[in-house]
Amino acid sequence: MPGSTDAQAQLPAIEGWFATDDAGVPHLIAGKCTQCGTYVFPPRDNGCPNPACDGDALEQVPLSRRGKVWSYTENRYPPPAPYPAADPFEPFAIAAVELADEGLIILGKVVDGTLAADLKVGMEMELTTMPLYTDEDGFVRSVHAWRIAE
Ligand SMILES: [Zn+2]
Repeated sequence: MPGSTDAQAQLPAIEGWFATDDAGVPHLIAGKCTQCGTYVFPPRDNGCPNPACDGDALEQVPLSRRGKVWSYTENRYPPPAPYPAADPFEPFAIAAVELADEGLIILGKVVDGTLAADLKVGMEMELTTMPLYTDEDGFVRSVHAWRIAE
């Protein structure tokens, strides 16, 4: 497909959750408390999630691109409307990946072709993106996804 590896083609399905650098390499964006350093994903502008901290300012920072499988499951049924689903529906895996440096667990789809039987707790995963749907203007909208790290 022409342009499918183009960074321009990677329009996020949800604004602000990930960004791609000039080489097209994606990273997730988190909020980080300027006072205690606690991370929060999805990113937001204020309200530190740490109950022991009264900090209110969160700065946007890129997250690690690799982590380890903390848990995973497999979706065998299409999501209910209004969530877009491929037709015909193909089962897909979902992984909760722990980022050691940030102490965050990030839930995400696993790329096509990798199902629960291919995954193990503790396995090293790498961030990528995958198309979720094509919007009304014909742009492919992508979401962050996990693949087994090389
Ligand atoms: Zn804080």
